[in-house]
Amino acid sequence: MSPEARKLARQLLDRLDGQTESPTTAGAPAPHAATAANRPARGHGAATSPRPTVHRTPNRPTRQRSRTQLTDLPQVQESLARDKELTDGLAAVNRPSPYYRCHEGPNGATIQLDNREFINYSSYNYLGLANHPRLIAAANEALDSYGTTSGATRIVSGNITLHHELEALLAETYDVDDATTVGSGYLTNATVIGFVLGENDLAVCDSLVHNSIVTGTQWAGCQRLQFRHNDPESLDTLLTRTRSHFERAMVILEGVYSMDGDYVALPEMIEVARRHDAFVMIDEAHSFGVLGERGRGIRELFDLPGDAVDIWMGTLSKALANHGGFIAGNRDFIHACRMSAPGMSLYAAGLTPATAAGTIEAIRVIADEPERLQRLRANSERFLDGAKAAGFDVGPAHGTPIIPVMIGSTHKAVQAAVLLADAGINVNPIAYPAVAEREARLRFFLSSEHTTEMIDHTLKLLTEISAVL
Ligand code: PMP
Repeated sequence: MSPEARKLARQLLDRLDGQTESPTTAGAPAPHAATAANRPARGHGAATSPRPTVHRTPNRPTRQRSRTQLTDLPQVQESLARDKELTDGLAAVNRPSPYYRCHEGPNGATIQLDNREFINYSSYNYLGLANHPRLIAAANEALDSYGTTSGATRIVSGNITLHHELEALLAETYDVDDATTVGSGYLTNATVIGFVLGENDLAVCDSLVHNSIVTGTQWAGCQRLQFRHNDPESLDTLLTRTRSHFERAMVILEGVYSMDGDYVALPEMIEVARRHDAFVMIDEAHSFGVLGERGRGIRELFDLPGDAVDIWMGTLSKALANHGGFIAGNRDFIHACRMSAPGMSLYAAGLTPATAAGTIEAIRVIADEPERLQRLRANSERFLDGAKAAGFDVGPAHGTPIIPVMIGSTHKAVQAAVLLADAGINVNPIAYPAVAEREARLRFFLSSEHTTEMIDHTLKLLTEISAVL
């Protein structure tokens, strides 16, 4: 190494250690300084900033502390106690916990648990595509061509044509310029909201939005307020009172609400948001593949133009029977997300080749086999009408494959799920903290692959069990 090269290397090492200050950067913010709107993921990006100097006072005796254990944390204790109460209660009556059970084979209208087959209402596989031969063949072909992984973050060398092919299909679905995919649906919400909003901004959310949206607002460091579920008047009142205190505002909605099984009053929400100069973002996790004539989601249902909202977001893990998320919208915005939003393609690996290929095929199958959507609609209607006729409270559910049956307490909801499981029906109880205690429920996810016999049998059993409870 030449003396010049050695000197340069020394200078660079010193800068990385934060021990010297370059005259050009002294007093200026670090190149990657975290702003509220664009905070680099911890540990990444930060590598180029000077490390903070740790000042140690010499000769002061350090107090011996007993080592803190993770299991002493109150949140850990609380979680373990809640789970133990449930597990012990069920063990006393010789039943397994309904949570984290392993299934064998696909998760569809039926499911295999501990060598027993159940009628299943606990899967997002709305159109029965998870084991469709065309999806499996497409995923296998991608595995053969590319291997198991795209090999790196997309911005470095992990980009493949399958990613762009899928993104073009998604953009076409929404009639927008472009789309980008992300390795996880949860991460998609967290990262895009964290990228768009900052400290001086406001996120106005429906009271039932998913936890990933709440996390996004926390990453953004913005103020988060919620309006009454699916109520445009409540949104209007909230924005009228608060909008002027913030630089930017974004209204965040879902196409289908997964707890209550209703769909958003989108045109009214957009009208209110635009009147108050707020962006609109919509999460289509449970509406893509489900709503609209061809399953193209809430935009198709209401016949809206692509630019009716600013960010169309969706997940690949529900009707599309894969894994990951996406956003679709304006070309420059999507490009900026690809280049700079930390959790998308910058510091996170993209979809695996098999996932990208499987999702492309899912979109094609939805178009080629419209009878799946028709069956899903018919099944959902049959279940909803039957539940109502039997006198169950199904909340505001309508027009979607998600049907909650209100039970009224965690205890009874778990009991009902156990009794149904005994009779060969798998449905999850939804309890506190996912919903308020008095709103504990059984939540039924319908699929195109349920038969009318399965549905009628389930409703009959549910009626008998609720009489006992
Ligand atoms: N948004 C909504 C509305 C969801 O229901 C979910 C997951 N159930 C997510 C986002 C996160 O998606 P994923 O599980 O695909 O990461």
